[in-house]
Amino acid sequence: MNHVIIGAGIAGVTAAQAIKETDNDADIVIIGKEDFAPYRRYLLSEFLCDSIAKADLTFASVESIKDMGIKFRRGQSARLINPTEKWVQLDNNDVLHYDRLLIAAGGQPNLGHVLRPFLKHIQRYYTLKDVMVLKKKMAGIRKCIVFGEGFSCLDLLASLYNLGKDVTFITKRESVELPLAEPGFNSGLREFLEEKGIEVITGDQVTAISKFRSHFRVMTSKHGDLYGDIVFAWEQYKPYTACIKDTGIEKKTGILVNERLETSVKDIYAAGDCAQIFHPALQDYWINFGWPNALEQGEIAGRNMAGGNEVYNIHEVLAFNIMGKELKARWWE
Ligand SMILES: Cc1cc2nc3c(=O)[nH]c(=O)nc-3n(C[C@H](O)[C@H](O)[C@H](O)COP(=O)(O)OP(=O)(O)OC[C@H]3O[C@@H](n4cnc5c(N)ncnc54)[C@H](O)[C@@H]3O)c2cc1C
Repeated sequence: MNHVIIGAGIAGVTAAQAIKETDNDADIVIIGKEDFAPYRRYLLSEFLCDSIAKADLTFASVESIKDMGIKFRRGQSARLINPTEKWVQLDNNDVLHYDRLLIAAGGQPNLGHVLRPFLKHIQRYYTLKDVMVLKKKMAGIRKCIVFGEGFSCLDLLASLYNLGKDVTFITKRESVELPLAEPGFNSGLREFLEEKGIEVITGDQVTAISKFRSHFRVMTSKHGDLYGDIVFAWEQYKPYTACIKDTGIEKKTGILVNERLETSVKDIYAAGDCAQIFHPALQDYWINFGWPNALEQGEIAGRNMAGGNEVYNIHEVLAFNIMGKELKARWWE
């Protein structure tokens, strides 16, 4: 059986391993847009802060994937899926035929229409490449401006704080809030950040960013102009769904899957941050964001692609640690 997997993150690679463990004769190809061996995305901040080396990020070396008999098309991107003829076309025009396909393309930070024109002035913070670029700039940076919300923002604020940078955090929300399982912490979140020396501006919006001498000028609707050496901004994290265009695969925010991680199109599965999974209790779809969830979904999708019939049970709470504080999150929804 031919299996094609789009995405070499934790969901995609775990699925490939699970297929091989169930069916050693399976022919598996992983397509991975990034140039690196699969890495632990959740540790990027540790790498930025020099707490770990680049090599420690890798969770599956290129050799170990090859040794398992799995083909890995690194640095290539799936552009088009034809579900009728069951093939995937890559950006280099190669065509891969599949019997079963997994979409494990993850998510990505997104900018709304106001900030999109200023993309060239905004430092991205999602991939290993982003962090490698950032690390090179870090020594020359003192003042950082971060516009956004949610855990990914808090994760970045924590890293910049750990690096001893001067940080201003701007959020559209009227208060600094996170979707926490224990909402009690939210009431003190602003004070928590301010105690760490982070300037917090709430209820405001960045409207423009321009180059000003060797710095950036950040215009906001209420607070006025701010100046920084680097600007980070995103408005939301969104599942990556571009490759399902014109396939008929149903989507809302993410790719809709049932509890067995099957999409609405036969023999196509989705797992990890790109998937929105049916939640029987809510009778609605839910993105079960986060590393351990993507790993488990990858395992189950892989076993189901190899003939299993397993159900994924949504975990509503995710534990993590920010600036020494243990928190439990209800991520996304
Ligand atoms: C800075 C940071 C800190 C985080 N901290 C935590 C944490 O503390 N705890 C936690 O649980 N989670 C954390 N996360 C989230 C966690 O890393 C993700 O939930 C997890 O990586 C999702 O795995 P995934 O395999 O679904 O997607 P991803 O890791 O996003 O991998 C998907 C891969 O698919 C590739 N791809 C996309 N489209 C295509 C295409 N068309 N063709 C080929 N390849 C494609 C992408 O380039 C990407 O490499 C953090 C994330 C970031 C960025």
